[in-house]
Amino acid sequence: PKRENSNLNDIVNETVEFMRNEATLHNVDITLSLESTMLYVDVDKSQIKQVMINLVKNAIEAAGDEGGKVMIYVKIRNEKEAVIEVVDNGAGIPLSIIGRIGEPFFSTKEEGTGLGLSISQRIIQEHKGAMRLENLESGTRVTVSLPLM
Ligand code: ADP
Ligand code: MG
Repeated sequence: PKRENSNLNDIVNETVEFMRNEATLHNVDITLSLESTMLYVDVDKSQIKQVMINLVKNAIEAAGDEGGKVMIYVKIRNEKEAVIEVVDNGAGIPLSIIGRIGEPFFSTKEEGTGLGLSISQRIIQEHKGAMRLENLESGTRVTVSLPLM
């Protein structure tokens, strides 16, 4: 894996642009809020893009077809970490399956591979970051953090 010093704002912006068609097809509105300063992280860009595509795809699928909203935030935390949040207004994660989320091949979707979250989790761990999922009052928030350079 080739690591390079990259601005996380750019990586996230590029993947969100790449996913806009998918969102439009599902009638889901995507909003993106970037940090105002550059956030340098030492990453394999294509792997972090893969993580973002997995998370945004899940968020679009969860947000569904009417009035679906996906919000993506990039911010700085404690001057040491860059944080990406992917928030959707879908149904959230049923409590009955919450323990199995991220298990390889576990999917609640008819045509799901159940690999998106487990691969994302592995990539983020390999970058010394962290990923967590939370149920919100209505929807889900996935938070990814990566060490700043
Ligand atoms: P897949 O999308 O192929 O099912 P993933 O590993 O991406 O596989 O996700 C595994 C499971 O986690 C999904 O089938 C779904 O049940 C749950 N999940 C993931 N993201 C969300 C989300 N944003 N909202 C609700 N459930 C989610
Ligand atoms: Mg998925």
